[in-house]
Amino acid sequence: MSDTTVFDNASLRGKVAVVTGASRGIGLAICEQLCDMGAQVVQLDILLAPEPAEANGMLAMRCDVADPASVLAVAEVVRARFGRCDVLVNNAGITASPVALEDFSIDEWDRVLRVNLRGALLCAQALVPMMFAAQAGSIVNVASISARSPTRAGAYGASKAGMRALTQQMAIEWGPRGVRANTVSPGMIRTPLSEVHYQKEGMLESRTARIPARRIGRPEDIAGIVSFLASDAASYINGEDIVVDGGFLKASLHNLYSNNIS
Ligand code: NAP
Repeated sequence: MSDTTVFDNASLRGKVAVVTGASRGIGLAICEQLCDMGAQVVQLDILLAPEPAEANGMLAMRCDVADPASVLAVAEVVRARFGRCDVLVNNAGITASPVALEDFSIDEWDRVLRVNLRGALLCAQALVPMMFAAQAGSIVNVASISARSPTRAGAYGASKAGMRALTQQMAIEWGPRGVRANTVSPGMIRTPLSEVHYQKEGMLESRTARIPARRIGRPEDIAGIVSFLASDAASYINGEDIVVDGGFLKASLHNLYSNNIS
């Protein structure tokens, strides 16, 4: 008899999943899919009200991932309400100004790394003891293709490259205690964070032409792979980084010769 675990609509049943940066964009899509697949979802975001509130089948509350006290407080709520945490999705992130490194504000550098990188470690430190207790858990960290290919906002790519390294560290340190950690690296996804780009004339068309899939990504494109990595169907995937970009990163040389691009 095979031990293979199939991935289906019930793959997250019985699991408690905590998602940060979850009130909109990619984080909200992740919450909705995890919930649809049977998980009890805890939706954390700096934009939410401080008191835990149940809505749309999820428990929502404010958490600033950059603030250790805020993170510890929500971990206590998760422990008190559910007594377990099976899945942590570190999705909260902020962008950085497109400023040259020589002029980049060190205060902004610190802020970007505090939210995007340190926040992921704080959340993991607060919740992983419940995973250790169960000798099982899945951490999914949302990085970016900018971890592999520089953009105009150096602090952002540095924070996301740090996220990839941190994920690998979690994978090898915590793997023996049953906890897996993987990174998902989105390409260009249309969300409130990125909407400013698409309001510029011609930007949607020019970006679309550079992506082999010939469309900008949707939050649901990220939610699907996050749900898979969160599930037991991915139980032997640990320390990986999955790029979800419609083939964009692979296309740079080919795009040099493409007539579709002006
Ligand atoms: P989004 O629409 O801005 O959503 C992110 C959410 O995180 C926002 O509600 C945001 O609140 C919240 N947040 C910010 N700082 C926080 C903090 N300290 N604690 C808790 N929550 C906080 O962004 P998105 O496009 O969905 O991006 C989600 C993740 O994907 C981010 O890590 C981003 O870097 C990554 N990503 C996005 C793209 C893309 O093209 N969209 C590409 C690659 C990677 P505020 O609005 O108050 O900041």
